[in-house]
Amino acid sequence: MRLTNPDIPAEWQSAYRDFQRQRERLFAIIGSWLLLAIMVAYHLSHELRGVRPPGPWSLEHLLRLPVYASIGLALLSHYTGVPNWHPKVFLRMMSTSLMLMMLGLFLVYFQNKPQDLSQVSAGLMISFFGVTMMATRGLRDWLLQFLLPLALFVLAAAMLSIHPVRLIPHLFGPTAMLAVGLVTSEALRRLGNHQFLNEQEVKQLATTDQLTGLLNRHAFLPVIRHEMDRARRSDERPFCLIMGDLDNFKRVNDSHGHEVGDLVLRETAVRMSACLRQQDVLCRWGGEELLVLLPETGPTGGREVARKIRAAMADQPMQLNGTRIRQTISLGVACFDGERSPEQLITRADNALYGAKAAGRNRVEMAPGKETGTTPGSGHSGLG
Ligand code: GH3
Ligand code: MG
Ligand code: MG
Repeated sequence: MRLTNPDIPAEWQSAYRDFQRQRERLFAIIGSWLLLAIMVAYHLSHELRGVRPPGPWSLEHLLRLPVYASIGLALLSHYTGVPNWHPKVFLRMMSTSLMLMMLGLFLVYFQNKPQDLSQVSAGLMISFFGVTMMATRGLRDWLLQFLLPLALFVLAAAMLSIHPVRLIPHLFGPTAMLAVGLVTSEALRRLGNHQFLNEQEVKQLATTDQLTGLLNRHAFLPVIRHEMDRARRSDERPFCLIMGDLDNFKRVNDSHGHEVGDLVLRETAVRMSACLRQQDVLCRWGGEELLVLLPETGPTGGREVARKIRAAMADQPMQLNGTRIRQTISLGVACFDGERSPEQLITRADNALYGAKAAGRNRVEMAPGKETGTTPGSGHSGLG
């Protein structure tokens, strides 16, 4: 198993943040329920053994308060959405308050009840393990969650004039757990990153066309569906589809070979992408058919982009493997007109494309519709 530090590529950073957030949310909710159960069990075991701190406001009780508060906040946020903080905040609050409570208790017992110190020492070891599991971001978190409480612990011990050598026999277990935690939290982070990278690679393989690097048909349909939902909610959000199909592409394969045909497809993807805005989505729909989704674009804008693509292909011959090829494209544009399914809208774009082919290729044709004010057969828009 590889345990090298995997770098997250820039284009996956946003997905990685979501992945981290989801993982931390899971850890925060499991951690808070577990911690609550342990706190209650700890409290009951004290009751059963008759070890009661004197009065309700003893130092022991005060040390427990921040732990209960952080558990309460984490549970409240999970079940009600308020406060809406990042789950890492709850993890950090829980681990820091837990550390402060256990280290504080250790000092209280060391000073006042040495006969019960072994129990606190065991509790300290268990809580070090818990804090390790909450350090989901590895070494960075680990340092943050352990160092501050440990520094306060050393300071408090010095103020109580406790010589560090006297603490050593009671801290062997917790110190060993500290070392184990250091390695474990970093290893868990790296394992998590590998899991994320593997999932992303599989996702990318499943949604990307390997030849052109564009989205494939499978991944494109949900994008159209999403845009249709948005358009239905607001009349202010029109959108268009452009269906493009290379003209006489079979001839390219027949005269120059399949490999050159592949290069033409790649170059087509590059040229089309260069005509689009960042929010536009380009997909390889089939063999030599490409589909573009233009959000927030009406018929005028849709026709303009289609004309730009047509010109980008026709005006500049491609130089591929020393072969000069003038590859043209025909395009059909259909704007959302209340269709119930992506397939219905695609069919309209496809019909418009068919019109462009029938009218002589290397053309843009608009699908008839309410918005264009055209009727079937009058959507012609020519070479642009
Ligand atoms: P039209 O102008 O009517 O669209 O003519 P056409 O020759 O482009 O249309 P047709 O659909 O008959 O042919 C499409 C060709 O595209 C046939 C197929 O070999 C080729 N093709 C499909 N996918 C690929 C691919 O991935 N690589 C290559 N090189 N060719 C492909
Ligand atoms: Mg074709
Ligand atoms: Mg075709």
